[in-house]
Amino acid sequence: MRIQFFRTIRSRLTLLYAVVLALIFLVADVVLYQSFKMSLIEAIDGTLLTAAEETESTIAKIPIEKWKTSVKEVERGFVVNRLYIQVAEIPSGKEENFLLVARSGILAENISQKMIWESLARQFPAQPVYMNVNEESPGTHPMRIILYPVHKVQNKKYLIEVGTSLKKVANTLKNFLNVLMISVPLLLLVSVLGGYFILTKALQPVKAVVQTARKITTEDLSHRIDSKNRKDEIGELITTFNQMISRLEQSVMQLKQFSSDASHDLKTPLTIIRGEIEIALRKNRSSKEYIKTLTSIQEEAGKLETIIENLLFLSRIDSPAQSLSLKAVPLDEIILNVFEKAEQLANKKGLIFLIGEMEPTLIRGETILLNRLVMNILDNAIKYTPAGGRVEISLEKTGKRVRLIVQDTGIGIPGESLPHIFDRFYQVDKSRTQRSQGSGLGLSIVKKIADIHGAAVEVKSEVGKGALFHVIFPLLI
Ligand code: ADP
Repeated sequence: MRIQFFRTIRSRLTLLYAVVLALIFLVADVVLYQSFKMSLIEAIDGTLLTAAEETESTIAKIPIEKWKTSVKEVERGFVVNRLYIQVAEIPSGKEENFLLVARSGILAENISQKMIWESLARQFPAQPVYMNVNEESPGTHPMRIILYPVHKVQNKKYLIEVGTSLKKVANTLKNFLNVLMISVPLLLLVSVLGGYFILTKALQPVKAVVQTARKITTEDLSHRIDSKNRKDEIGELITTFNQMISRLEQSVMQLKQFSSDASHDLKTPLTIIRGEIEIALRKNRSSKEYIKTLTSIQEEAGKLETIIENLLFLSRIDSPAQSLSLKAVPLDEIILNVFEKAEQLANKKGLIFLIGEMEPTLIRGETILLNRLVMNILDNAIKYTPAGGRVEISLEKTGKRVRLIVQDTGIGIPGESLPHIFDRFYQVDKSRTQRSQGSGLGLSIVKKIADIHGAAVEVKSEVGKGALFHVIFPLLI
């Protein structure tokens, strides 16, 4: 149960807060108590000094026989703190033979003159000395005294001692300590409860986030958390969380779309193959007819192979675990290589196949992937350009970038399809190509490879006027 309690941020923060606060209170109390005690003692010391000075000036003016009465009068003048005053003569040379000359009240009953003398190390003090006496010994009266040296009154040395009880001070300090002992824990309790309450309120939106997050499953990603227009850290957390769910929802939708498209595209050739076989098996056929059926099956199997191969390729370059080693590669050489391979196809179709400007160019890339990118774009240009048309490829440097340009004079792409041609399995219109050609994955592979290389792909096209593809790579140097 206890472990459970300290698992929440709220309880841990409250505990931390309580400990820090308790430490602060403790230090503040000690400082407060000490300074209060000091100021009380200072006030007493001030009174003692005044009384000693008054005694000095009084005895200086009158003969020694009258000192006792005068000392009592001085004593009576102080009403707030009761004082006890005595005057001792200190014979020079024989200082240990001090002689009490005048004495008021009961000071001497409480303090032995011998003890005072010993605490002064039998030395006549040059300056007034303050001391606490009888603090430790039980049953006696704790006192504060001043030992005030009078260097010359009627040519003799005297020591005026003024003392007062510390009982009042001790009581005041005790009361003050009691107040602290009661008020501080109370204050601590109130502060901690307040802190706990504020934390509860501050962390409430986090609970809402947790509750909504619990409702979200891959089946239903439509829930969003209401940030109530908060601009604080919690608002930021909610916005980030909502954005993440949106991305997740989009990915799941794409995944669903992708698997349904993939199954559809894989199913079509299989249905054709099955149909061809069923027709062929209905009756005995001539070998010519069997050859025709097998050729058709071969064509469909080839298409299946291409789709599966493309899918595998896409999933390979999609997976983040796939670490690609991009290094400096000559893009112009890669293009020339692919151009030579595609030339046969173009010639077979009766196209004018040209190579334009081709500057030597180094980019950071992967040769196999770049081969594939150039081949897919050229393959499309050849596929969608009727006999007699023209396909041209070139490479142009502009600033820190290099542009791969493929232009054809083929059937072109309708405006409404342009935003989709890079989607997986998207085909403008299946009737535009022969059945065995294309699966709608070629350009999505181009886009993926371009992304890996930090390249942008642009396309301009009009139906009947051909298409213009640009792939813009950052230059290595
Ligand atoms: P496909 O395998 O069908 O060619 P792609 O992803 O390579 O798939 O291309 C997507 C669609 O874009 C194609 O169905 C095609 O209609 C259109 N397309 C691509 N390149 C061209 C081009 N050079 N001329 C006309 N249409 C093109």
